[in-house]
Order: sequence, then structure tokens, then C-alpha cells
Amino acid sequence: MRKLELISFFKKKLNKKIKRLIYNHSLETRNNRSVLTGLPDNIVSLSYNLDIDLDDEKFVFSGTTTIEFKVVKNFDELNFIELNTCDLQVHRAEVLSPEISDEILEAVDIQQNIEDQTTKFTFDHNKLKHLTTNFELKVVYTGITGDKNCGFYRSFYTDEESGLDKYQFVTQFEATDARKAFPCYDHPSIKADFQLKLTTKAGFTHLSNMPAKTSTLFLEGDKQRKSTLFEVLKKHTTYLVAFTASELVPIKSQIPFRIPVTTWTLKGYEERSQYSANFTTQCLKFYEELFDIPFPFPKLDSVLCRDFTFEAMENTGMIVYDVNSLLLEPNGKHTIEELRYCSEIISHEVAHQWFGNLVTMNDWTDLWLNEAGATFWSWFCCDNFYPEWKVWDSFVCGSMQLGLNLDCLESTHPIQYKSCTKGQIAQMFDDISYDKGAAMLRMVTLWLKKETLVKGLSSYLKTFMWKNATSEDLWYHLEQASSKPVVEVMTKWTEQPGYPKVTVNHISYDENEVTLELTQTRFFKASKDKSSNGEIYPVILFIRNGDKVEHVILQDKTMILKVKRENNFGIYNLNADHSGFYILKILLNIKIY
Ligand SMILES: [Zn+2]
Repeated sequence: MRKLELISFFKKKLNKKIKRLIYNHSLETRNNRSVLTGLPDNIVSLSYNLDIDLDDEKFVFSGTTTIEFKVVKNFDELNFIELNTCDLQVHRAEVLSPEISDEILEAVDIQQNIEDQTTKFTFDHNKLKHLTTNFELKVVYTGITGDKNCGFYRSFYTDEESGLDKYQFVTQFEATDARKAFPCYDHPSIKADFQLKLTTKAGFTHLSNMPAKTSTLFLEGDKQRKSTLFEVLKKHTTYLVAFTASELVPIKSQIPFRIPVTTWTLKGYEERSQYSANFTTQCLKFYEELFDIPFPFPKLDSVLCRDFTFEAMENTGMIVYDVNSLLLEPNGKHTIEELRYCSEIISHEVAHQWFGNLVTMNDWTDLWLNEAGATFWSWFCCDNFYPEWKVWDSFVCGSMQLGLNLDCLESTHPIQYKSCTKGQIAQMFDDISYDKGAAMLRMVTLWLKKETLVKGLSSYLKTFMWKNATSEDLWYHLEQASSKPVVEVMTKWTEQPGYPKVTVNHISYDENEVTLELTQTRFFKASKDKSSNGEIYPVILFIRNGDKVEHVILQDKTMILKVKRENNFGIYNLNADHSGFYILKILLNIKIY
């Protein structure tokens, strides 16, 4: 079992999604720009109308994006509007507002800043300054469906049946590549409504986050074209918007559920795609009950993509998977590690629909909230359906070790960043965010007990659904549910890098108890790495004595601890089931039995 787990983890690491977050949840501004987005802070995006027309032969698309903004500070000092864009050729921009006398105000200058990935639209200030309420900005542009697996891109494959070379056109926006498909405020803290109209050649299936509202076939010259208008995706962030135009085959879940659950696969992969549809439904049912929150979207599609950089991407209502993560040989022809691998990924991505999509981190600094949350709940989910896998044993031997191994290096970082630049975001999708983060959630679960944790978690999700949240928000709700000092304890664990070595010195013993002196120091793998800042960790000791596990927190550098001898041998364990994220050094300087 352990070996299989290590194989699974090894595969996982090869493809691990490179994601990251920053942490700064205030609406702090500097020089009239939001500290979070870097964009002018005088307007806030409310909704996007995206109209995208794909030329699948020339690998280009034309787009018209109309954004409704709310003015929060007037334009007295600004004569421009600035948006995130990357690799888009902007042709025209105009403001539409009844507050401007002629109702359409065209940009007099359009400047793209390639390094900052922004475009500045300058307008006649005498007119722009009249905007005080809501207005629309319409931007007309063209883009390229490239082959770099980001933005709105083309994925190459060879059709299994015909042997013909073909392309799927699909999006991958996380972390900051929505700006390659449409101009936007491209930051997780900004939630808005999105409505997409997608036009391509007639032969493609169109999918997006939401179901199609209308679908129209029409002739353009001698070519038959297809337009799909999707329902509005409410209160979302840009990195979770997704769409595809591909030749896809639907595989419906065989497990009844109140909304459609479908895996969209390529020809020739139908049989191997059935498990994906079925297990996705099982996960939805499991999480709905666990979180006490019904899956809040009207459908869930899974899409197979042949050329995908990551294992999967959790876009709301339209999860995209690579081949290894989605396909599974039917009828017992798969190996156990293949089944585990698919199940872990599917349950991770479905958990994201709540952790990340419904409640979104406020900044990339809190990426771990998304990734550790989804990782941790995926283990919970797999343990529910496959208890024989003993996934928590595997967690300790696999996932947790990845976190411990990285976190004892001098180059490690806190789970929760204080701030981060766009260039740092990719580095944040590492074993600290995923695996140390998941180990923190397991530690707090074993401290509070599962029922209390689920109660606090459900409260957190219900409070912040359709909004953004921070690490502190999560800890606060767990503290409320448990009446334990969760905020104080866990904030130190997420804000400080590394973990401690706890040295246990036996002081004395008698027939009733053993007296121990505990001393903590930050642990480094290499002796030359000693850049400790004197970190003190709130070490939760999980003291097993007999059948019971008691919790004591080592708050300071040293502590005297008395452990009852409840059996004849005086054998005890200070980190029962490897619940805590630290290592113990036991000095056997006294014989205690
Ligand atoms: Zn994830």
C-alpha cells in the first residue's frame, strides 16, 4: 500500500499544478491603485459580457468584452481606465454611459504595457470626469489561440478513429491568464458576473461554466457556424472562468443526481471515461452532505484535454482533466494505483467547487486555503469510499513527508505569504501549500475532533459563499465551533516557516507518572542552514497513554510535562498517529520501566 502511494505521489509531482497566492485581505490602496490588483482603485468591475468568435483554421479569435463598472471614487484625477491584458491586440475601446452627453465616448489613446500586462485606455477627461455611477466599457480586440497551454489555447491530438490530426480549443486561466482571453480585472479578490457568447464552426461542442441558454446555427458565406450563449455565471473570479470548443462525446453519470453530471471525452475513450462521471457524482453527494451545502451550480461537466499542463483544473461547472487523471480502464482492468490516482484527483477537483470556487481566497497569498483544503478533503472523500486503502496511513507516509522534507530547508516559506508579486504566484503551487497545508488541516482536525471541525467549516463556507475569505476567517470559525484557541495557535503555524524539533528529556519517574522536560528548536535538515529567527511554535502534543489521546500545547521554548503511567510499562507517545507537524527527539537518559 505504501509503495503504491509513493508511485501515486511521484506521478502527482511530475504534473503538479504550479499555483500560488499572496496575502493581503484589506482594500488597501497606494497612489490611487489597489495594492491587491495594481489597477486603479476608483472603479470596481460588476459584470462581464464576453463575445468570442474563433477562427479555428487561423488559430485566432476576435473578442468584444463589455464590462459594467461601478464608480467608487470619481475620475477627478484620472483620465484613463486600465485593465489587465496579455497578448491581445486591442483595436477600440469606448465608454457607454447616460452620464456622458453623447452617450458613447471613444478612447483617444490605447497604450499596452507588455511587462505589467496591462492596457491603459485614455479618454477625454472633460467627459470622463462626469462618470459617477455605473457605466460600461466596451473593448474590441483579437487574440491568438497559442500552443502554450494557457489562456484560450489549442490542444493538439490525433483522432483515435480516423487517425486525423485535430485540435481542441480550451481555456486554462489560473493563475493570471484570463487576461490572454479578455481584458479584465484579473485578480481573485474581484468577483463579478460573467456571460459568454461563443461562436465557432458548426461541428464543435461548446461548453462553459454554465449551461447553454441558446444555441444558433447560421451561414457565414458558405460556412456553417454555431453560436452559443451561456447562462450568467454569478459572482466569480476570472481564474475560474472556462470554455471550450471541441469535438466531444458526452458520457453521462450512471448514478442518479438532481443536476446533470457529464464527462465529455474524445472519440475512442468512451469506456474509459465512465468512472470519471460516476465518481464525480459520488463526490458531489459526499461533499453536499459533509458541508451541509448543496452543490450550488446547475451542472458539472468534466472535460478530457489531450494537451493539458496540469493534472486538472477546477473551473466552476467545467473541470478540465489531463488523460492520466480522467481515463480509467473499465471492469477491473485498471491497477489499484491507477484507481487511486484518478479518485484522488477527481475528489480534489470536486472539493474545489466549494473550497475555492464558492468561497475564494482573497489573494494569492492564501492559495493554501484552496489547495490544502481540496487536498485534505479529497483524502477524506477517498477514505469514505475506499476505507480499505487506509489513506491516512498513506498521508503520513507520503503527503506529509513531502511537506516535512521541503519545510526543513532554509529556502522554505510560510504557508501563508505576507505579499507576493505576479512572478511569485507560480512558485506557490508547491508541497508547502498542498501538503504542509493539508497536514495543518489534519492536525487541527485531530485536535478539535472531526465533528467540531466540520461544524466550523460549514459555518465558514456558509458565511463566505459567493465571497472571498482569508486564513484568519477559517481559523475564527473553527475557534467559534470549538471554543479552543484556534486563531492564536494556527496563525503561528501558517505565518511562520518551518517546524520544530522537540527534544524530550526524562527528568524523573515514579510508579504513577513520568516527568519530562520538553525543549523546542526550529529543525533544519542541513546543519549549515541555521537562519532561525527564534521561532516558537505552538506545538500541539497528542499524548497517547493507553487508549486515550490528550492534548497539551507547548507554547514556549521549554516546558515540564508530567505524563501519567496508566500501564505497567510506562510507554507513551507524545505525537500519537503522527498528528502533529513536528519531530521528536527522545533522550533515553533514564529507564522508566
Ligand atoms: Zn487544487
